[in-house]
Amino acid sequence: MANRFDSDVVVIGAGIFGLSVAWACIKRGMSVTIVEKATIGAGASGGVMGALSPNVPENWSPKKQFQLDALLTAQDHWSEVDATSGLPSGYGRLGRIIPITNARGLEHAQIRTEDAKSLWDDEAFWHVEPATKFNGWISPEAAPFGVIHENLSARINPRLACLSLAKALRSKGCEILEGWEMTAINDNQITGPNGTIHAKAIVMAAGVACFPYLETLWARNAGMGVKGQSAVLGGVNAADVPMIFGDHTYIIPHENGDIAVGSTSENTYDDPYSIDEQLDIVIERALTISPALRHAKIKHTWANVRPRARKPDPMLGPIDGPAGLYMATGGFKIGFGIAHKSGETIAAMIDGETVLLPKQFHASFAETNK
Ligand SMILES: Cc1cc2nc3c(=O)[nH]c(=O)nc-3n(C[C@H](O)[C@H](O)[C@H](O)COP(=O)(O)OP(=O)(O)OC[C@H]3O[C@@H](n4cnc5c(N)ncnc54)[C@H](O)[C@@H]3O)c2cc1C
Repeated sequence: MANRFDSDVVVIGAGIFGLSVAWACIKRGMSVTIVEKATIGAGASGGVMGALSPNVPENWSPKKQFQLDALLTAQDHWSEVDATSGLPSGYGRLGRIIPITNARGLEHAQIRTEDAKSLWDDEAFWHVEPATKFNGWISPEAAPFGVIHENLSARINPRLACLSLAKALRSKGCEILEGWEMTAINDNQITGPNGTIHAKAIVMAAGVACFPYLETLWARNAGMGVKGQSAVLGGVNAADVPMIFGDHTYIIPHENGDIAVGSTSENTYDDPYSIDEQLDIVIERALTISPALRHAKIKHTWANVRPRARKPDPMLGPIDGPAGLYMATGGFKIGFGIAHKSGETIAAMIDGETVLLPKQFHASFAETNK
């Protein structure tokens, strides 16, 4: 009997979640089609920041272990993707410094040094160091009690990473249909103005657009979009330094010498893509923390909307809805750090494997309703 499916898996959305699910499915030998209503990385994934950072090493949980596993495997993952595509994702395990601003913070940071040894399996360190070790990069006044220095954090160039992954996917036979908008999902099929695609599994990785869809199914809120504004600065001499996270602000050196600075976190906004004085405040904070940025020039700015699920944990796996439908969304501020492991999780589920997933990550109505 002829196979009635056009492909094993159809993925809705070519952001980092959709591309990562597709990659994991392709590696398992499944045929995959991605439909994207605009272009690759058109949503939250097409940005400029790209911090891949761990949770604090304390109060350990399956969620933190999931993220740790993802961070520890990210280098191999991106090496493989970039080798396949021939393009750079901009991945680099730079580490991170966090200014310590009071005595209590110092005490906590010192306790966590020991915790990191056991909780991070000796794969990375978390030290307290004098700010003067990073002279010129971080201002001693911004870190009067020193800095936390950990070497687990990495950075990636989000936009380039999506392009690298997309090219790698195409080279392995994955079809990526840009300008193809899904407007309806039924059992094992999606439909849009461009036609209908049948698949054994449908993975909805449409970012914030997943939430209104879920709301029609569940008749309750499923998540929201949180706007972020960010900037790319040029003209800074900052080679071989860790990224900085201080005063709610990331300062991230990228491979080409640019420095990304961000981001705002806005629950209400009129225009998801506009830039306003809230970004000036973030840049001002960055200038206070890092003297190296004082003569920097803004090269460009970027704003978009992060998918923040209700909890706000990622939503991964099957949902009570049309047959064959899986969710892969809600990465919020850590989407790039966990995307490849999230993709592997969904691919294993589609393959019928029993997957151990932190219960907070389950996408079902019941779990997200707790
Ligand atoms: C300013 C800012 C800074 C950030 N910084 C970081 C950071 O430093 N580190 C980090 O890990 N994360 C960061 N994030 C978060 C990260 O970008 C997100 O977690 C991640 O991009 C979410 O990916 P996604 O694939 O779920 O969604 P998206 O990238 O939004 O992808 C969804 C895609 O689905 C498409 N789509 C929607 N509806 C349809 C439809 N009906 N049919 C077909 N296609 C559809 C969209 O066009 C889009 O391309 C940041 C986000 C912002 C906005």
